[in-house]
Amino acid sequence: MNDMYTHDRAVVLGASMAGLLAARVLSETFREVIVIERDELPTGSAHRRGVPQGRHIHGLMGRGQQILDELFPGFGADLVARGAPALDQSGDARLYLGGHRLQQASGGSTVISASRPLIESYVRERIRQLSGVELVDRHDAVGFTTAHGRVTGVEVIGRADGSAAETIAADLVVDATGRGSRTPRWLAALGYPLPAVDRISADIAYTTVVLRLRHDALGHDRAIIAPPAPGQTRGGGLAEIENGCHILTLMGILGDRPPATVNDILDYAKSLPVPDIYESVYDAEPMTDPVRIRFPSSERHRYEQLARYPDRLIVLGDALCSFNPIYGQGMSVAAMEALALREALAGGRIPSARQVMRALATAVDVPWQLAAGGDLAFDGVAGKRTTTVRLANAYIRRLHAAAVEDGRLTVAFMRVAGLVDPPTALFRPAIAARAFRQHRGMPSSKSRSTA
Ligand SMILES: Cc1cc2nc3c(=O)[nH]c(=O)nc-3n(C[C@H](O)[C@H](O)[C@H](O)COP(=O)(O)OP(=O)(O)OC[C@H]3O[C@@H](n4cnc5c(N)ncnc54)[C@H](O)[C@@H]3O)c2cc1C
Repeated sequence: MNDMYTHDRAVVLGASMAGLLAARVLSETFREVIVIERDELPTGSAHRRGVPQGRHIHGLMGRGQQILDELFPGFGADLVARGAPALDQSGDARLYLGGHRLQQASGGSTVISASRPLIESYVRERIRQLSGVELVDRHDAVGFTTAHGRVTGVEVIGRADGSAAETIAADLVVDATGRGSRTPRWLAALGYPLPAVDRISADIAYTTVVLRLRHDALGHDRAIIAPPAPGQTRGGGLAEIENGCHILTLMGILGDRPPATVNDILDYAKSLPVPDIYESVYDAEPMTDPVRIRFPSSERHRYEQLARYPDRLIVLGDALCSFNPIYGQGMSVAAMEALALREALAGGRIPSARQVMRALATAVDVPWQLAAGGDLAFDGVAGKRTTTVRLANAYIRRLHAAAVEDGRLTVAFMRVAGLVDPPTALFRPAIAARAFRQHRGMPSSKSRSTA
């Protein structure tokens, strides 16, 4: 028996990013961690049914990169060795935010730009190397077992024909089954109240295709990020990923829907408020068929507010909070939640589930405020615009406009958007003074500096 373990068995439901990252930290204090996954898990980098969003652009933010490097030393370097580019988010990406082209400046966060299957397969591979962690695929979690106010295990059914339900006992159960999590339904069936859900409906649609671009189509840049902005329901992202390919995701908000065929995609790209994406891709070779996805609303489940909640049950990842994907926060927040879980377990005993859910809610607070605030800048998005939200959005508009000529502001903004620095960093006197400095407006020529 190994003395470093303080608990026996944890069961994690879902082997996507949130489940794998939770398993990584649980492996430090649990003798055995069993991860149950409905899909068949591929050995390499491949799309899978349970993660349909994985076919679309998946930017890793600065904080996510930092945590993945910490949990899996060598993460960044290994992905570069597998053909993925490392890019400075404020220096190597052409950023069009709020209708302005921000001046590029190196010195922000360097992140790996890879396809989602490559990131996930790498993490899965590292998890498979951990002793005490077992990935059990082709098994569907169908419910919890409970006794005396605590969850005592999970019921699972194998996907093979003729499989019977079985119960796996656990000292801790972590639901990381994503947006479709059935925990609210299972809790209701056990007589627990449903969590309140904060919802912001921006009605997003994506169409994505992987392309091979002509040589030098992006010049020195490695990405163009031009999301929808207030007054512009269309946007797009084009980023270099592994093996010299580029992923193009066209976006529509508030009911605007990017089309499904390659020809129509080009027309849509041409209709974007900035010409750069179309000019980079018009003669590109498609490597995949276009795929589409809709994301009606961001949803945050307020488990931490429930008066009655069973012990030993943790809900995290998209099952807890799924964000408007345009902000690229999901994987990074899953990583931040994994650190919050690790910290909650650091005391050597399993804390109450309510305590952990409160810690996770704290981890989610800032990303949720950033995403909700961004969505509420669009007139067509319903929701309460508090004075703080209005002032913050007015300030961000000002900062974006000033960043057209000031790369220091681009770096500062991207570090906050990347969840590396707190939002208060943008209100420091040195940054605020730059944001309010008189500026000439958006330059037409390409600008690059090393602020
Ligand atoms: C269109 C889109 C684009 C996105 N872009 C970005 C981006 O640019 N950057 C970023 O960081 N994030 C992005 N995200 C979010 C990101 O994909 C998620 O936040 C991240 O994958 C973490 O999700 P998760 O692990 O909680 O859930 P998921 O990734 O949804 O995985 C849930 C897992 O649980 C399994 N499962 C479900 N039910 C069961 C069951 N009953 N039993 C067993 N297994 C089950 C599923 O098969 C799946 O493997 C995007 C999301 C969408 C929708």
